[in-house]
Amino acid sequence: MSVDKQYFTSRLNKVFSDNGLGRMLNREACEKFLALTEHMLTENEKYNLTAISDIDKIILNHYADCATLAARLKAGASVVDIGCGAGFPTLPLAILRPDISILAVDSTAKRVAYVEGAAKLLGLSGVRCVTMRAEDGARLPEYRERFDIATARAVAELRILTELCLPYVKLGGSFIAMKGKNAEFELSGARKSIATLGGRGARIETVNLKSDTEELSHPLIIIDKKEKTPSSYPRPYAQISKKPL
Ligand code: SAM
Repeated sequence: MSVDKQYFTSRLNKVFSDNGLGRMLNREACEKFLALTEHMLTENEKYNLTAISDIDKIILNHYADCATLAARLKAGASVVDIGCGAGFPTLPLAILRPDISILAVDSTAKRVAYVEGAAKLLGLSGVRCVTMRAEDGARLPEYRERFDIATARAVAELRILTELCLPYVKLGGSFIAMKGKNAEFELSGARKSIATLGGRGARIETVNLKSDTEELSHPLIIIDKKEKTPSSYPRPYAQISKKPL
């Protein structure tokens, strides 16, 4: 599907600059976002990738939202995106931060194949993709406590998500959950889970974004990894979901 280049580029630049993210965009990133949008909308029918097809909404809800995370990452960071789905935040992070490396994880092979194809099409050499359940991958030595940052957007409730994600984070790194409105409630219920899995200093920071027509506000929950995750975690998913810590 073809998208009007001039319209797309002007909207992308405006939303990013109105939200203090303008310095993250260069010409190459704009071109990659355009190519990603065309590719995503073309593949949407086959893969059921996103419910959002309006260009302005894609820019605000997908690209600018993920850009707020991209802006927080230190140079050369290693990131794991748990439950990457249609490639969020993986693909915008890789477009905006070619210096970082990202492992995109999802249990659904079809979605991983799409993300892998999109990364290849856009020349995003820092992206690796793997089809696996997060709780299985966290037990593999090549992934366990190997990442500066684990992140997840719209995957599960925080007690469950913490057990899926914190085992991937190395000491001194952080887990950043891109959450919806219930963050305070979820965090208050996840204190035991966080402490058990080696997390400390959990806090909420709110992302506030706007375009000409819309506002987007949602919390990030940030948890620092201060102690190793005990080897008994993560448990099999049936246990994690039936008896969250
Ligand atoms: N992060 C994307 C986004 O924000 O658009 C996708 C969110 S989608 C609602 C949730 C994704 O998490 C799905 O693609 C699903 O397959 C994946 N997922 C859920 N539980 C998982 C697990 N235990 N391991 C790996 N992937 C999982």
